[in-house]
Amino acid sequence: CGIVGYIGPKDAYPILIKGLQRLEYRGYDSAGVALLDDGNLHLYKKKGKVSDLEGEAEGKNQSGHLGIGHTRWATHGPPSDNNSHPHVSNNGEIALIHNGIIENYSALKEALIDRGFKFYSDTDTEVLVNLIEDVKSQDNVSLEDAVRIALNQVVGAYAICVFELDNPSEIVTAKMGSPLVIGLGDQEYFVASDATPFLEYTKKVVYLEDGEMATVNLEKGLKVRTIIDNKDIAPYIQQLQL
Ligand code: GLU
Repeated sequence: CGIVGYIGPKDAYPILIKGLQRLEYRGYDSAGVALLDDGNLHLYKKKGKVSDLEGEAEGKNQSGHLGIGHTRWATHGPPSDNNSHPHVSNNGEIALIHNGIIENYSALKEALIDRGFKFYSDTDTEVLVNLIEDVKSQDNVSLEDAVRIALNQVVGAYAICVFELDNPSEIVTAKMGSPLVIGLGDQEYFVASDATPFLEYTKKVVYLEDGEMATVNLEKGLKVRTIIDNKDIAPYIQQLQL
């Protein structure tokens, strides 16, 4: 029920953990993080509190300047370590967190199983990350385009954050029905369900509207566009007075 993401020069892990703690008020039953560290993925997920997740990650590799973190309020599949987010696609290349519900997940799942995909959790979310992988490899498009094309097949509510193992400078996000805000720092970006996880670093924010997606890229900057018709949108940057 909460999302946080970071990309920039700092270590992502402590920012994600602190951010998830600030989102605890939203309610949740499990938590997880994925860190991208020199092309390697460090994935920690745990049923229970954010403090249980910290226990799980303790003594393990917590390096990475790109990361995403999630608190889950289970809708599809019971609370468990395995059903916790982030979820990773079959080829191990794409990691995703999701708040919300993919209503047509079972039809999408059947089609993906027919195409050879395997599923390791009970979640609707795992369907989406594999759909993105399938679109990306079939259409040979960027992650950003694959996310957009995949979301056009999805009925439901979502706030998502996605990254790819071979692209350490980019996070792709999208919103429909669940909250999502982007924080613009100095050579760094934050993504979260509300601004509290990153207020200590930046007060420059862009609130995504339903039906919009945003890509934050350390070289190319922030790009916002519509999911349905792929139209560029000039982001409305606000300076929060807090
Ligand atoms: N529907 C997803 C799940 O059950 C996400 C739930 C959430 O919003 O945390 O895993």
